[in-house]
Amino acid sequence: MEYKALIVDDDRTLLRLLDVYLAKNDIEVVAMTNARDALRYLETELPDIIVSDIMMPEMDGLAFRKAIMSDDRLKLIPFIFLTAKGELEERLTGYQLYVDDYISKPFEPREALTRMNAALKRHSIYHDLLRYDSLTMTTNRKTSEEILTREFERAKRYGSPLTIALLDIDHFKICNDTYGHVFGDLVLIKVSDTLMSQVRNTDVVGRYGGEEFLVIMPETKLQDAVTVVERMRFYVEQLTFDPQGFTVTISAGVCQCQAGFENIRQFIHQADTALYKAKNNGRNRVEIAA
Ligand code: GH3
Ligand code: MG
Ligand code: MG
Repeated sequence: MEYKALIVDDDRTLLRLLDVYLAKNDIEVVAMTNARDALRYLETELPDIIVSDIMMPEMDGLAFRKAIMSDDRLKLIPFIFLTAKGELEERLTGYQLYVDDYISKPFEPREALTRMNAALKRHSIYHDLLRYDSLTMTTNRKTSEEILTREFERAKRYGSPLTIALLDIDHFKICNDTYGHVFGDLVLIKVSDTLMSQVRNTDVVGRYGGEEFLVIMPETKLQDAVTVVERMRFYVEQLTFDPQGFTVTISAGVCQCQAGFENIRQFIHQADTALYKAKNNGRNRVEIAA
């Protein structure tokens, strides 16, 4: 199934109907008859979309929505209200709770599906805008740091290996100064594509600065990471950017997470020191953090 939807309604017949129909259309339904159970479920799970009735005994949909809005982990999940005809007051209150859409009962399952898919699509467009650098489509700096923080904490908790690399294009300023900014942008795009082509699905290539990249490799020991980064260095060197055969090289510093690191700043700083060493030792090379 492509998506997981949490659907909250005290009407069991409606839940069953949606469950069957949505499952046929690639949406897995987690059905709850009460908002309190739904909130408990959300403590550990993150569905792709939430659909909720407004009028429910015990806790109504408006209170449910308020609880979700107050939780940073949950507030950006697409949210749709189901509402019976005539509940104007509730509907107006609901609009003020920034829901993505309203579906009035009675409705055809097909309408629910279409509106859910529209909300999911809209959400994924915004999500990508927030996540990726628009020039290179690598992960942007903010998201890279969020991912590294999460992986850093996981590595510390479970003692699993985590290795990062900072990469920087050599003498990139000369490239811009000689051939212009547009050409420089093209170089950045091709280098980024090459870096991304060398990593696993679980790795992240982030644009950390202008022509500097942070590669995050979870579950990867130092030597294996060095092999990956050496391959990146090698393939970037093979790229040509114009008929005259203009090429660029990259330098990199690689560092495996150590028990003594207190935060990602320290971790990145070690990789940066190794990168600096690579620059000083002649560029177009990979150095390992001491
Ligand atoms: P080094 O080998 O020491 O790294 O030298 P360098 O010239 O690569 O380093 P420096 O940091 O002096 O120059 C980086 C250049 O990258 C300067 C800046 O204009 C350029 N740059 C940063 N972001 C972009 C971008 O988005 N597009 C283009 N075309 N150039 C960029
Ligand atoms: Mg550079
Ligand atoms: Mg630089």
